[in-house]
Amino acid sequence: MSKIKKLPEDLISKIAAGEVIERPAYALKELLENAIDAHASRIIVSLKDHGLGEIKVIDNGEGIEKEDLANALIPHSTSKIESLEDLSHIDSLGFRGEALSSIASVSELEIRSRKDDSKGFMINSTKKITSAALDKGTHIIVKNIFSKTPARRKFLSTVGTEYRHILTQLYNTALSYPQIEFQLFNNEKLIHIFKPSDLETRIRDIIGTDAKRFLLPIAYKDGYTQISGFISHPQLTYKSKSKVYVFINGRRVLNNSLTSAITESYKNLLMNHTYPLAVISINIAPDLIDVNVHPRKELITFIDERDVIEKLKETIQETLELHNLTFANTVKQHPTSSAIAKNLREDVMATKEGRIGKVKRSADVIQLHNLFIVTETENGILILDQHAVHEAILYYKYKQAYKAQKEKALSVQLPKPVMATLKPHELSIFEENIKALTKLGFAAKVFGPEIVKITAVPFVSTEVDPIKNLTETLERLESDNISDIDDHTNAMLAYLSCKSAIKSGEHLTKKQMKELISYLDKIDLGYTCPHGRPIKIELTKTYVENMFKR
Ligand code: ADP
Ligand code: MG
Repeated sequence: MSKIKKLPEDLISKIAAGEVIERPAYALKELLENAIDAHASRIIVSLKDHGLGEIKVIDNGEGIEKEDLANALIPHSTSKIESLEDLSHIDSLGFRGEALSSIASVSELEIRSRKDDSKGFMINSTKKITSAALDKGTHIIVKNIFSKTPARRKFLSTVGTEYRHILTQLYNTALSYPQIEFQLFNNEKLIHIFKPSDLETRIRDIIGTDAKRFLLPIAYKDGYTQISGFISHPQLTYKSKSKVYVFINGRRVLNNSLTSAITESYKNLLMNHTYPLAVISINIAPDLIDVNVHPRKELITFIDERDVIEKLKETIQETLELHNLTFANTVKQHPTSSAIAKNLREDVMATKEGRIGKVKRSADVIQLHNLFIVTETENGILILDQHAVHEAILYYKYKQAYKAQKEKALSVQLPKPVMATLKPHELSIFEENIKALTKLGFAAKVFGPEIVKITAVPFVSTEVDPIKNLTETLERLESDNISDIDDHTNAMLAYLSCKSAIKSGEHLTKKQMKELISYLDKIDLGYTCPHGRPIKIELTKTYVENMFKR
């Protein structure tokens, strides 16, 4: 008995319409969702030419019966919903019955499938159904995507970018379903194998061993909402939101209010424009959300978004508190200057805008909390953040050196080559940006599968571990969309200054402190370090006098 039925017209008209398959990765997303809806426990993705030649998805799910093979290709035909009523409580990933027909219209599509209790059958663009030999499950083969629509193919980005979108879709699904095994091949080469596991292991498999060290579990449950997953310790941050994964009822959604809620929960524990790692699943009664608002189902709306946000924030804040990661505690444990400086600035700058007085020649200088340098100016009391001020000085110096060196060689040969093992998406960014990397001063080339041999690094960053240097540069090349090499170099100089500067917690001698102070006269450091944190604050004498009611 066939199960896939064409939806009634009134229901079709209620379904969010729009282009679904704009790029190969979106075809993959739909195929993965279908395999999950079919309760597969193992999904194999096999690409030819990074997906542009072929995308094959093999699952061991329920399969499609012979009578339904042709129906699966008819627009608006689905086995997942039947009536308008069903639209308000969708518990499957698919429901529009559009994916396979849309994919078939832009590619050569073949479906092979076998149910538990029958033989296998296949259908392809000839629409003829013939028998096929396969195990229980479904193989969907998408060949030459967009070859029928050359205009569309022309609008695709480079192969590397399309491939990274494919990886992103795979990672999204694999992070949402750690209990399912995933394998990825490209041109028959095994790229990934994610064994069925718990979420923590899956995060390690996808994001890296480093990440796993910094994970804090979160959990919340009430009658309607369940929140689970991991957030990172504030020590692990990224420059883009790309590692904030929010899954609602199994699908990754892009929702700025939720992302902001997550970063806001960290309060001052994060610097400006940095984001934590978060892999958070929110399960919510299907009738409290609407998944039918976006053609690719990447956005959803909530009946009561504020309620979800409140619960999410509370859960994250409680977790951070549980690990003693409140702002007050982190200051005590590892005095980080940022937030103190920020608060002080808010209190004090209001009372004194404008120039900071000159440091008195005879002034004494003391270090407090191994963090602040305090001295006397003509107008009052000057407090410096030892890390931020040193960072600003180094940044200035590096910039000068860079300007001077720019005309000469920007690259420094390493004493001996270093081999870096890159992750698949890093390798693809690498291959696409060889020119930019060379301009920056890297000399590196692919040496073996996923191995890159680094022989030279930018002269500004010789002190940084070459592998870290390369992978962080790749991350930045991808996330910041930097087109200008000078901008990129500036970002590298800022990074380098931060790494090399005196840290909070380090004891300084009077001589060292005086030297730092002497730069205030020599160069204009501005008020903030390259990351935008204040470096110096002056409490005017009048201000302090007022506080003492003098
Ligand atoms: P939807 O997922 O919205 O129902 P699709 O066009 O993606 O629409 O798929 C149409 C139908 O084909 C599905 O409803 C399902 O019955 C069947 N189908 C598609 N892929 C699979 C698969 N991998 N395993 C089993 N059934 C599938
Ligand atoms: Mg589907």
